[in-house]
Amino acid sequence: MDDLLTRLRALPKVELHQHVDGSIPTEVTWQLMRHYRLNPVATLEEMRRRLEIQDEEEGTLMAYLDKMHYPLWITQFYENISQVTEAIVAAAAEAGVKTLELRYSPVIHTFAGLTPRQSIRAVLSGMNRGTKKRDMKVGLVVIAMRQHGPHIAKILARQAIAEAQHLHARTGVVGFDIAGPERGNPPRLFRSAYEIARLGRLGTTAHAGEDAPADYVWQAVDELGAQRIGHGCTAVSDEALLRRLAKDRILIECCISSNYHTGAVRKGRPHPIEAFLEAGVPVAICCDNSTVSRTDSARESLRAAELLGVEAVERIHREAGAASFIRPESRLADGGDD
Ligand SMILES: [Zn+2]
Repeated sequence: MDDLLTRLRALPKVELHQHVDGSIPTEVTWQLMRHYRLNPVATLEEMRRRLEIQDEEEGTLMAYLDKMHYPLWITQFYENISQVTEAIVAAAAEAGVKTLELRYSPVIHTFAGLTPRQSIRAVLSGMNRGTKKRDMKVGLVVIAMRQHGPHIAKILARQAIAEAQHLHARTGVVGFDIAGPERGNPPRLFRSAYEIARLGRLGTTAHAGEDAPADYVWQAVDELGAQRIGHGCTAVSDEALLRRLAKDRILIECCISSNYHTGAVRKGRPHPIEAFLEAGVPVAICCDNSTVSRTDSARESLRAAELLGVEAVERIHREAGAASFIRPESRLADGGDD
């Protein structure tokens, strides 16, 4: 197993679905919390239990989401956001990621007075710093939270375009996404925001079918025109939908550990990635929240290899690059310091 992990660590990998908030290395959050005397517990080990999913918590969405709140205490300031992002990029590089899309909800980082635009630029600055002297392609996907409603989503789509990669020399925004509670917030509500993102030449993806039926995936595809789907677990029960995803080459960003941790896939049940591949649906192997799920791209690839075989995993990473929103002409590791 160690040999296989070493082989998969060395494999150039594509990460298309990773959140900043749930991927900050625990030591970095701990150090910043201590710096501001905000640490809610006395030791790093106790902090780790609050930031990383514990065995007895697996399968419960609320416990999973709770892990994301503590980092927000410190990621309200430009330099902190930049610093944690730089650490995430470094950790991804360590795991062998060569194409990295990070995603981030700007609005939940504005509680101390940053504007959404400053909040976006803080992450981009960290990405620029993190890729200096590294051979990596990086880009940011801006998330609108469903619970903030369609109007804020439209505002964010415009903010995202202002920082789009094709308009700037350095790392920029490459895509647009919706996340947050699915039920009661169907994709079709966000149609105008996706229209704006598309007109602004951003790639489009949507969290759908993680905690809601396949109908939400249909809506993301038909009404939002999403080019990729985050999770999409419930699509597996709908053969017509699988045919549609395969025909239009709509990639599903699969996050195996996360899906078991949130309960999107029940413990003991097969992960739908196998059925997606059998149906000819393109997939990517992604971390979602590497800190919460105690994983990285190499370990997720190992988990996938146990289901699919190592050759299939190598092929998935080879082909997933084509679905990345980062454009080929994007600058590589020579980006400046924002
Ligand atoms: Zn996600």
